[in-house]
Amino acid sequence: MKLNICIDIDGTITEPYYWLPIANEYFDKNIKPHEVNQYEIYEVLNIPREDYLSFYKLYGEQLHSKAEVREDARQILSKLNQLHNVFYITAREAKLEKTTTEWFDRNNLPKGELYLLGSHYKVDKAKELNCNIFIEDRYENAIQVAGSGLHVLLIDCYYNRKPLIPGITRVFNWKDIYKFIKEFNIIIDEGVTEIA
Ligand SMILES: [Mg+2]
Repeated sequence: MKLNICIDIDGTITEPYYWLPIANEYFDKNIKPHEVNQYEIYEVLNIPREDYLSFYKLYGEQLHSKAEVREDARQILSKLNQLHNVFYITAREAKLEKTTTEWFDRNNLPKGELYLLGSHYKVDKAKELNCNIFIEDRYENAIQVAGSGLHVLLIDCYYNRKPLIPGITRVFNWKDIYKFIKEFNIIIDEGVTEIA
């Protein structure tokens, strides 16, 4: 069966800590990846939110352009894109569309439909697209999407290691994601829609 797979971008396709050296330099900090235990960067850096927003306003586009791709994401996204419908659903603002599509092109990532919601609330879009599996790194999004009855794969990051609820499976890399989707699809094809 051809699945509808919704995929977040930042921290899910991008390497989740690539921005650290740039932010460390700008704010004169020395935060290590394992210390990124909160989603909000200003909290990680222990700086006022306004200071981070000013930094993001100045360097946000450059940061997104320089984002690194997670290991194996390119190959696995290409495979998934051949077999299924891939939708990219991001909280990025609409004005980042060009930056985002150019980054996809530069990194040879397959083009799927792209939705820049400008909000972390992704449930309505996922439902509208008849999403079978949602791949995400932000804990609160995972809880919200799974709470609406959809299945979520939460890709492990230091900042999302919190208790999960039914409907969320923690995965550690893109190989795990591929394996899960393959098995999920076999179960669906056999007519079993409930998975443990
Ligand atoms: Mg994300």
